[in-house]
Amino acid sequence: MKTDVPCGTCTECCKSGQGLFLHPEQGDDVESYQYQVAKDRAGNPVFLLATTDAGSCVYLGPSGCTIYQRRPLLCRSFDCRKHYLILPRQDRDNLVRLGLSSRAVFNAGRTRLDTLSNAERQTCTDTRDEFFAP
Ligand code: SF4
Ligand code: SF4
Repeated sequence: MKTDVPCGTCTECCKSGQGLFLHPEQGDDVESYQYQVAKDRAGNPVFLLATTDAGSCVYLGPSGCTIYQRRPLLCRSFDCRKHYLILPRQDRDNLVRLGLSSRAVFNAGRTRLDTLSNAERQTCTDTRDEFFAP
């Protein structure tokens, strides 16, 4: 599903150094990208977009994504606003501390919350309450 995040000139999730996973099971053509192979907890291979030494996606150019029309599923579907809203603050902080998520991406989501509809916001908070109830 394609999101409607008003990214503007933001490219934080392309340079966050986080795992830019490819999803061949959902249609990503892995071989059409520069990619890296890692292993999941069960030892199965997982595929990620290749990154530069600085952690940016290799397809990030000076003016944004250089393969925008064929960017993979994760890039088409990621919504930093929902990513921010769904995770409780402590979990966000922990993910940043562990290097598993990016403060800049969370901040990008937080500053765009007013572009979500009330219904979308409610769905996010309902999801958070369902999965992260104390
Ligand atoms: S962090 Fe959010 S606003 Fe920035 S590029 Fe990613 S999805 Fe767009
Ligand atoms: S493919 Fe494009 S949108 Fe996706 S992470 Fe790379 S530069 Fe960003």
